[in-house]
Amino acid sequence: MRIGHGYDSHVFSGDGSLVLGGVVFGDCPALKAHSDGDALAHAVIDAILGAAALGDVGSLFPDTDPRFAGADSMELLRSAASKVFAAGYSLGNLDVTVVCERPRLRGRVPAIRERLAAALSSDVSRVSVKGKTNEGMDAVGEGRGIAVHAVALLEETR
Ligand code: MG
Repeated sequence: MRIGHGYDSHVFSGDGSLVLGGVVFGDCPALKAHSDGDALAHAVIDAILGAAALGDVGSLFPDTDPRFAGADSMELLRSAASKVFAAGYSLGNLDVTVVCERPRLRGRVPAIRERLAAALSSDVSRVSVKGKTNEGMDAVGEGRGIAVHAVALLEETR
């Protein structure tokens, strides 16, 4: 077994709608990024790549590369997952914590879990997503952005 941790944070830009785990939140502004700003997907990419010691989201999908401008981060996650699978691992389980004052995640958690499980060729029972606030503390607590933590356990398939 191998364990990996991923972290990402972005500020709201006010341009377009927020995307988290491939799910669109029409009532919340997008996060500022070179890609679609899906901080949840980016944290998960770093967790699975970290577990397999295969680098990180920035080395695989550099934000200086015009190919990744506005990229669908769930597509990047599928690409990272295929590298991890090719290296001989499958997902044991994934646990994600999203820290933000807005949006309220709870009602959308089942949809996010399903998207992540599909991207990781796994079962939704192995994927956990939790939302919490930062109790008004620091920039995240002031509602200026979103931070995401992810922990992934990989199992060797050979
Ligand atoms: Mg990011």
